[in-house]
Amino acid sequence: MIMKGKKGIVLGIANKRSIAYGIANACREQGAEMAITFLNDRFETKLAPIAEDLGCAQRLYRCDVSKPEEITALRASIAKDMGEIDFIVHSIAFAPKEGLSGRFIDIPKDAFEIAMNISVYSLIEVVRELKPVLSDNASVLTLSYYGGAKYIPNYNLMGIAKATLEMTVKYLAEDLGKDGIRVNAISAGPIKTLAAAGIGEFGFILKWNEANAPLKKNVSIHDVGNSGMYLLSDLSRAVTGEIHYVDSGYNVMGMPAVEFDENNKPSLVWKG
Ligand code: NAP
Repeated sequence: MIMKGKKGIVLGIANKRSIAYGIANACREQGAEMAITFLNDRFETKLAPIAEDLGCAQRLYRCDVSKPEEITALRASIAKDMGEIDFIVHSIAFAPKEGLSGRFIDIPKDAFEIAMNISVYSLIEVVRELKPVLSDNASVLTLSYYGGAKYIPNYNLMGIAKATLEMTVKYLAEDLGKDGIRVNAISAGPIKTLAAAGIGEFGFILKWNEANAPLKKNVSIHDVGNSGMYLLSDLSRAVTGEIHYVDSGYNVMGMPAVEFDENNKPSLVWKG
């Protein structure tokens, strides 16, 4: 039991298809105890059975990260019910839909600010507010996507947010290293979730990745969950500031996958 004796908080479970659920589930299977959060009243009832499943029916807390008072209240709940915690999973992102399709140059300023606040600044704020309840050797994990490193069609505003998130991971890792706190990100391959449904032509991205990744398959929330569990566990105690790809190897490709015919003539694997 790799996570036996570890306690943590998981932000960003919307349903059982959420990446955060995959991570929470992997941690639970390895003996961790946890608390999870919900965004608002609508999600409280939806998340109750999931909390039950994860063994934390009594530790289901409200936290909309755009409301600083809810992050402060989260710290108080953790202190009261759990004492200290050993890990934080930040699996949250949001961008208004006008930032996720159309021309990049047309992104409105207010959409830009919302995406940065919810998807990036919230990581800094959550870690700062929860720092007093973090144990020595605590581990923080957030979620990124390749669209923050390279151009991906329609990812537009979220690409900028993920690039900023990845640098935030590195600066936070340096700053908190002296306190023994590690900060890492997983850059996950595309997965059909609620958040992904907001990205224009997401089905095309899924097919493209499957055809062109070295492993020729898309990743699941369980793949990301197991890698996430490793980054939250002591197995990775010398790893910090890392952007760890869990994407069937897609990020190493310098051009789309090709196959060769009997005359050694290349053609694209995916004809579209
Ligand atoms: P998801 O299930 O929809 O999870 C996104 C979560 O963010 C939801 O629980 C959502 O809550 C929460 N959230 C949004 N605004 C919030 C706020 N103001 N306060 C608190 N929580 C808020 O989708 P997901 O794909 O698992 O996304 C999790 C993370 O993985 C995101 O950072 C995403 O960018 C990243 N990621 C996803 C993929 C992919 O292909 N799916 C790939 C790489 C990285 P509500 O649903 O309750 O609004």
